[in-house]
Amino acid sequence: MVDPYELPTFFKVLREEMKAPEPSVIVTTRPCVLSRDFERRRPLVVHEEQCNGCSRCLDVGCPAITVTRREQQERAHGKVVDLAWVRIEGAACTGCDLCAKACARGAIVPA
Ligand code: SF4
Ligand code: SF4
Repeated sequence: MVDPYELPTFFKVLREEMKAPEPSVIVTTRPCVLSRDFERRRPLVVHEEQCNGCSRCLDVGCPAITVTRREQQERAHGKVVDLAWVRIEGAACTGCDLCAKACARGAIVPA
């Protein structure tokens, strides 16, 4: 059993069980967002002026987060980095807060 909102632990369990040589079942401890009983929270939005395009929030893998702009920037030491600015589709956001936790800039806030 695993809490799917604890992303590092959840991904670790997924990796381990994908490698298991026998059939395996993972039970998640949060309600399915498609169930009638699921209680949506207030959707979140991205404050564009605070977003630096780091794209860490995209690692959450949420379908409500879409890329609005991509850019490559060369850093002082010559390394080229890929940046992606994002927006949140309010109708698809359940307000789970996972993307906000991933954003070190505090750019993702309640609508
Ligand atoms: S993690 Fe925050 S700063 Fe980085 S792209 Fe997402 S919203 Fe922008
Ligand atoms: S709060 Fe949850 S559902 Fe909403 S955009 Fe972020 S990760 Fe997706």
